Amino acid sequence: MSIILISVILLAIVGGTSAIILYVVANRFQVVEDKRVNLLEEILPAANCGGCGYPGCHGFAEACVKASSLNGLRCPVGGDELMSRVGGLLGFEVQVTAPMIAVVRCNGSCDNRPRTSQYDGAKSCAVESMLYGGETGCSFGCLSHGDCVKACMFDAIYINEQTLLPEVVEDKCTACGACVKACPKNIIELRKKGEKSHRIFVNCVNKDKGAISRKACSVSCIACSKCRQVCSYNAITIANNLAYIDCNLCTLCRACVEVCPTSAIAELNFPPQKKTEAEE
Ligand code: SF4
Ligand code: SF4
Repeated sequence: MSIILISVILLAIVGGTSAIILYVVANRFQVVEDKRVNLLEEILPAANCGGCGYPGCHGFAEACVKASSLNGLRCPVGGDELMSRVGGLLGFEVQVTAPMIAVVRCNGSCDNRPRTSQYDGAKSCAVESMLYGGETGCSFGCLSHGDCVKACMFDAIYINEQTLLPEVVEDKCTACGACVKACPKNIIELRKKGEKSHRIFVNCVNKDKGAISRKACSVSCIACSKCRQVCSYNAITIANNLAYIDCNLCTLCRACVEVCPTSAIAELNFPPQKKTEAEE
């Protein structure tokens, strides 16, 4: 038998054996995807923002299908309406949750927080925060390069050119949390959107002692405790020289806003307070 014929036969045997092995392995380890994953993906927003905590909408769909309930699973972009559809498709009950929104907790505008140095490095909050505390006396405040803006897939946050602070566009924010993760200063927080979008929060994250923070920024929290004392609902705590309002306990009565000596407590979307007779 010629050497060529022997080679061809050997090659055919090796090829055939490999094909059989591959066929058996492929069948043995075949991953059959639950058809409901595709059905869910069709109704998910395809934003792939990661706000659900999974790598994109496909990952979220897989997690929902594998779960034994939808507790702890939520697409912030689609909200309750979408989650009801997901629940309907999978036969799960869905708990209605309060709508959330991103809140920027720094009021250190150019007027309130004078610049004391100049930074000429890369225009990135992440980079600047690694190098030093920023251009002002407050090392906790916003650096204004807009890492949060770049992270937002929904065009829901921008830097106000006057104040150099980020502002959230209420009707665009999906509470996906991308800006929260992008901010190296941990200034942005997801809070309850509130009835009629009314929100009250301490607009400062400075943890320096009162005298130091006030010197750096005229509207900083000085941890004087006046807000905590006036709150009848135990919604305010003071820790590390900083007041914090729990939005789950706050009844939006605004008592704390009035007593804050530095106007560090923000009240959003409220009508103007009525003046007392003495004030008039
Ligand atoms: S503002 Fe923040 S939470 Fe809101 S959509 Fe943009 S990145 Fe998401
Ligand atoms: S809020 Fe944070 S991420 Fe956004 S501009 Fe300020 S420092 Fe940068």
